[in-house]
Amino acid sequence: MPGPTVGVLALQGAFACHAQILRRLGAGVREVRTPAQLAEVDGLVIPGGESTTMTLGVEREGLAGPLQEFRDVGRPIFGTCAGLIMLDTKHLGLMAITAERNAFGSQVFSFEENLACPQLGPAPVHAVFIRAPWVTDYGADVTVLAETGGHPVAVEQDNLLAISFHPELVGETRLHRRFLDRVQAWAAA
Ligand code: GLN
Repeated sequence: MPGPTVGVLALQGAFACHAQILRRLGAGVREVRTPAQLAEVDGLVIPGGESTTMTLGVEREGLAGPLQEFRDVGRPIFGTCAGLIMLDTKHLGLMAITAERNAFGSQVFSFEENLACPQLGPAPVHAVFIRAPWVTDYGADVTVLAETGGHPVAVEQDNLLAISFHPELVGETRLHRRFLDRVQAWAAA
């Protein structure tokens, strides 16, 4: 059976690395910039980048409504870093989370940490944080997969997955695999 087709929102930011890792995991990948392109994929990655710039792109392309419908029918979405911010209640409002931008301090450009994430197995997740957000508030149906210093940095709600860090930069594939499993299940249903 051919793998599912997933989209990577390619308005701005680090979309190319995600496309590469998803292809390595066997998925068909398309860059998504317009509502018509969004309609052709079974799941979507919203990459890291700059949420302010990405928001302008979403407005310019008229993507907010189509993204809402995409979520409403249960298609999986995986947001990383700026992508997590885009999913929150102050931006696209697709997930019951509130994110704080640059939460580790605006001077903290980047750092790395090994995070316990039991849902992904016993090996910790090597997380690279780059001007990263964390989650300050979340709804009752949100599950926290990983946290640092008591702050959630990986969360899940139905078919939505959002993380503060960048597994695509360090060859950590388990989160993309988890997303692709959801996409596969959705496409087969
Ligand atoms: N600080 C960025 C923002 O607020 C996110 C950083 C990232 O995606 N690496 O949008």
